[in-house]
Amino acid sequence: MFKTFLIKYGEIAIKGKNRHLFEDALVRQIRHALKKCDGTFTVYKEQGRIFVNCEGEYDYEETVGHLQHVFGIVGICPVMQAEDKGIEALGDDVLTFLKNVYDLEHQTFKVHTRRANKRYPIESMEVNAILGERILREFPGLKVDVHHPEIMVYVELRESGKIFIYSKIIPGPGGMPVGTNGKAMLLLSGGIDSPVAGYMICKRGVKLDATYFHAPPYTSERAKQKVVDLARKLTPYAGPINLHVVNFTDIQLYIYEKCPHDELTIIMRRYMMRIAEHFAKETGSLALVTGESIGQVASQTMQSLAATNAVCEMPVFRPLIGFDKQEIIDISEKIDTYETSILPYEDCCTIFVAKHPVTKPNIHIIEASERKLDEKIDELVKTAIETTETIWVE
Ligand code: ATP
Ligand code: MG
Repeated sequence: MFKTFLIKYGEIAIKGKNRHLFEDALVRQIRHALKKCDGTFTVYKEQGRIFVNCEGEYDYEETVGHLQHVFGIVGICPVMQAEDKGIEALGDDVLTFLKNVYDLEHQTFKVHTRRANKRYPIESMEVNAILGERILREFPGLKVDVHHPEIMVYVELRESGKIFIYSKIIPGPGGMPVGTNGKAMLLLSGGIDSPVAGYMICKRGVKLDATYFHAPPYTSERAKQKVVDLARKLTPYAGPINLHVVNFTDIQLYIYEKCPHDELTIIMRRYMMRIAEHFAKETGSLALVTGESIGQVASQTMQSLAATNAVCEMPVFRPLIGFDKQEIIDISEKIDTYETSILPYEDCCTIFVAKHPVTKPNIHIIEASERKLDEKIDELVKTAIETTETIWVE
């Protein structure tokens, strides 16, 4: 019965002159999301609203599910379309609609008419009254409540002459359409945190690229595949992601050889940031994103975060900075990355990790240790960059 969805968007409606940019981005993201659904869809803007039309057969649940991943959408309204054949016929249509959508017993309701078609012969208030009366006559258990109705019946008299009837507003994910706030480089590991961090940044309209550091043969092909899978799990929200896979083995072995072992993790993390920033600059990202949160592990104390941050010129966004692990897990379950994240494959950081890593690194000492790496490290970094594999994940 539903061939059309009306898409409600919140925050983006208040962006003044930029409004059309936001709407266009939202239309683009919706089209992209629906590519993965069975069916043929047209997405269009009309009179300050966005609609999705479903041509022919389509899967209602699947379609709604995909729309619920598109940032910028606050509500998805399944719409019944009717032709304008007079107010009597409209009453019939509204009753059919209600019977299909609700088990009507003792609810309260209200009719709200929007008369975009100014040639429609009856004023909207009067349409409300006429339809309200029809509903009361048909369903004696119902009552009108104009302040807090349980059922809102929306009737839109469109300029095209068509009439749209809807009631349910299925919640969308909120946020802003991806692509309206530039691009950022996510440091994506196989863990629980970084996919959640990526999700949160793209919720604010930021497009994502990603960088993953692996250490073959110490880390396996399966560990890499897990990261590709995590990136793919983000794509319903983020759109396609360009994933840079950096071979970090020689850099890690060299740091291991030259630097005090309790400083390994910090120095490794500093090199990760440098390399990720290189790709970020090269590909137009404006910031780095990590899944760090204060105090979670030795490399995420305030001192460690400061030492890692010091090598970056770009802002580093850490959307999980104040989150407890359980709060992060809750989001990862919601966005369906958790099950993949907990697969037990080795991680390049844990393989070379010291028994007692420094928890309060002194930046001068760290820098002194790094000087021992001399020019050879620059060459290793250069090689790592040149041999990086990029994977287009969608
Ligand atoms: P996560 O669950 O995201 O792996 P974590 O709790 O394991 O995080 P760390 O291993 O200290 O924490 O990593 C902190 C952050 O550094 C990660 O959230 C991620 O952004 C980045 N990072 C760590 N390891 C890698 C890696 N191998 N490749 C890319 N980024 C990484
Ligand atoms: Mg990790």
